[in-house]
Amino acid sequence: MTEFYLTQMGRTFYESTLPRIARALEQIADIKKGPPAQFKCACGYDGFEVAGNFLKCVKCGRVYR
Ligand SMILES: [Zn+2]
Repeated sequence: MTEFYLTQMGRTFYESTLPRIARALEQIADIKKGPPAQFKCACGYDGFEVAGNFLKCVKCGRVYR
């Protein structure tokens, strides 16, 4: 029996699908970490909460992405 990674489907998975998933996970991790410390809302506050794909200022409610 051929090993999965040696098949065409296996190569596609490891060379294309898996890296894509890895990048997506890194992007999600970056979003969860929040904006860089120097990032401030227009109102001057620098506290944000994650709302879906957006960042919402805790103080004034402005939404960033
Ligand atoms: Zn604000």
